[in-house]
Amino acid sequence: MSRLLVIGCGGVAQVAIQKCAQNSKVFTEMCLASRTVSKCDALKDKLEKQGTSVKITTATVNADDVADVVKLIKDYKPDAVLNVALPYQDLTIMDACLECKVDYIDTANYEPEDTDEPTWRAAYEKRCKEKGFTAYFDYSYQWAYMDKFKEAGITGLLGTGFDPGVTSVFVAYAKKHYFDEIESVDILDCNGGDHGYAFATNFNPEINLREVSANGSYWVNGHWVETKPMEIKRVYDFPEVGQKDMYLLHHEEIEALGRNFPEIKKIRFFMTFGQSYLDHMRCLEDVGMLSTSPINFEGKEIVPIQFLKALLPDPASLGPRTVGKTNIGCIFKGTKDGKEKTLYIYNVCDHQECYKELGSQAISYTTGVPAMIGTSLVLEGKWKKPGVYTTDEFDPDPYMEMLNEYGLPWVVDENPVLVD
Ligand code: NDP
Repeated sequence: MSRLLVIGCGGVAQVAIQKCAQNSKVFTEMCLASRTVSKCDALKDKLEKQGTSVKITTATVNADDVADVVKLIKDYKPDAVLNVALPYQDLTIMDACLECKVDYIDTANYEPEDTDEPTWRAAYEKRCKEKGFTAYFDYSYQWAYMDKFKEAGITGLLGTGFDPGVTSVFVAYAKKHYFDEIESVDILDCNGGDHGYAFATNFNPEINLREVSANGSYWVNGHWVETKPMEIKRVYDFPEVGQKDMYLLHHEEIEALGRNFPEIKKIRFFMTFGQSYLDHMRCLEDVGMLSTSPINFEGKEIVPIQFLKALLPDPASLGPRTVGKTNIGCIFKGTKDGKEKTLYIYNVCDHQECYKELGSQAISYTTGVPAMIGTSLVLEGKWKKPGVYTTDEFDPDPYMEMLNEYGLPWVVDENPVLVD
């Protein structure tokens, strides 16, 4: 029996909410709150028409404003808040949860909307020099809440999507059941889906394009090695998808895994991209359309990447037209009982199956299901621990069981092809 406040009602949120409704033993009441409340109302109607037993209400909230979130939390009195809005809102929602002493869950690492803001920029430039990677996001802002969350007796579960989220649980699971020591992890994210557009992003365009146009980096012997965007390319034959080009990216779970598993000498993250996507992205970048700095256009200030977002298809609308499968997982190298060992744990997800079940494509699905699972485990008390943690810091077994139960079954291959 629990009351959940969900903030955000985009592609990922719509899957997470529908999955919460399938797990109605844990989620008995939900408030769906977002900037555009009509999306929440439409989803509430859909679930009620399907006969859900979950008591659903909706609300408008501006999650950039701590006071607005605090007011909503005080009115609704939830047991936990699931943040499936944007990474820009992580800190405001965490502040509100702290003030109201309510558990907090999200799927993505904090990053600021305005990367030119002078105080943030100064701290960012210092961090780039000290840590050696230049991504706009890092865990320091959210890890800084550790003591405050401990004192308040509340849990902050960070990054319970697929990557980060499930990929970090795969690491904890491999360590618990298959290895004495893990030496290297390659996280491979393959989207073999085709939506038929020349260019579209599978989740929020602004967040997605910021991530993939940035420098790459990987973790080796306790420090970062940074690369130019798309500098390192490999080809991999993905089970159930086939051969794809993949490129090394910086990705947030590397930072948490590097800290929490110091024995792991090398951690890399690769994502597949088709040539059309890369060509479009390069052109858009070359003409300044990926910029986050406002420009003046005919007397009005606009942010180029936000204007681009308005032109691109809404990721939540890609469901009916996307065919093909995703394959996301981790390849491990290490030792067990003094012998060398390799292992691949992955999930394959079919875009059209997701659409048939929930009306969404597989990227939203593979993120929304783990968002529900992490939230459920916090609410059930299995992953409740005052402080702020990533998903690799808890017992992986109940999470792995729920992946099988809620639509993301995984495969263990003890003889995988490695990435060179
Ligand atoms: P969308 O853009 O589809 O949805 C974002 C939602 O948040 C929208 O409903 C939007 O409202 C709402 N929102 C935005 N700003 C505010 C605000 N200030 N106050 C209240 N609501 C707001 O994004 P996605 O669903 O694609 O992504 C959601 C999250 O999931 C992101 O943080 C993304 O980074 C993360 N993600 C994580 C992955 C993982 O594997 N870990 C993979 C993919 C995504 P409106 O409708 O008004 O715009």
